[in-house]
Amino acid sequence: MKTRTSREIQVGRIKIGGQNPIAVQSMAATRTQDLEGTLRQIRILEGAGADLIRIALDSQKDVEALRKLRQETDAVLVVDLQESYRLAEELAPLVQKIRYNPGHLHHHEKQKSKKDKVAWIVEQASRHGCALRVGVNCGSIDPEWLERFPDNDEEAIVQSALEHCRILDDLGFKNYLVSLKDSDPAKVISINRRFHSLRPDVPIHLGVTEAGLPPEGIIKTRVAFEQLVSQGIGDTIRVSLTVPFEQKGDEIKVGREILKDIEEGRFRSVPDFGDKKLNIISCPSCSRVENEKFVELAIQVKEMAQYAKEHAITIAVMGCRVNGPGETDGADLGLWCAPTYVNLKKKEEQIGTFSYEEILPRLKVELDRLILTRASNH
Ligand code: SF4
Repeated sequence: MKTRTSREIQVGRIKIGGQNPIAVQSMAATRTQDLEGTLRQIRILEGAGADLIRIALDSQKDVEALRKLRQETDAVLVVDLQESYRLAEELAPLVQKIRYNPGHLHHHEKQKSKKDKVAWIVEQASRHGCALRVGVNCGSIDPEWLERFPDNDEEAIVQSALEHCRILDDLGFKNYLVSLKDSDPAKVISINRRFHSLRPDVPIHLGVTEAGLPPEGIIKTRVAFEQLVSQGIGDTIRVSLTVPFEQKGDEIKVGREILKDIEEGRFRSVPDFGDKKLNIISCPSCSRVENEKFVELAIQVKEMAQYAKEHAITIAVMGCRVNGPGETDGADLGLWCAPTYVNLKKKEEQIGTFSYEEILPRLKVELDRLILTRASNH
């Protein structure tokens, strides 16, 4: 393994980066306001050996819930400021790390500059000794960078991350790391390699987003981690698997197994994720999941679609409206869950909404159509 070159940052009692062991983290998939369920999930993840545990927060009520959870656990907690960056002021005293998404930040308080918004977050984090993660995601890239690189979303992701590093550096804030995520392991490899070549000093959180159900989700993640961690890239990891809430600890166990294999030189042959076969991606689910039938739906989609396994088709199954609409844009067929129905899309086009009972046969109709169209175009 190549030696890592990142600087060390402090996240509560954990040091990440430098020559510290690669930290393994996961996310509570319960609704944060379900105190009993979330606490149980935190215990499951701690029991599996999680170094950090992430929790989603969307509202003031979630903050109140977090305040109560904080009294019950000393776990190193991270919060995800997706659509709610103004909550940072109240969150910072309760957690050890805050993640913000440059793509989402762009849409808030448009009259303010990016730098002012980041400066405000930094002020909250600094006051309470919190670390920050700049979390850039393929499904929510800062539109300014997408405009500048309309045909190269990989470069847009890298440039957005670099821009935020510059802002944080200019503000004199050093306790941060960066993540650059995509659901395609090949892209995860290339964007992280490129970012690392330009900023070898910045610690990186690695992950393949929406890797999906085991075993494919594990294979996709392993492929990316093998290529990056062996090259000294990656200081903390998250394995995102679509598994029932009770099995979330598997994300930690799998992460540790992959790291151990890499360290001991056990590499798997690298599967080809070129566009030659059926590819089903699904999000790992989190507290935002709109209907608990989501995990079952992801399993059913995978089973139903097996007959198409030799076709180069991507089907995405997402748990909620926060990331569902954007993350399904790139899929040939996309499903994203609402509380009582499922949205069905073909690339960016909305086909319609269907009940949880109707969606599977309707998806099959679209899948058959797609296979026929492609066959007649050949
Ligand atoms: S798509 Fe929604 S439910 Fe799924 S992990 Fe992302 S935020 Fe959570």
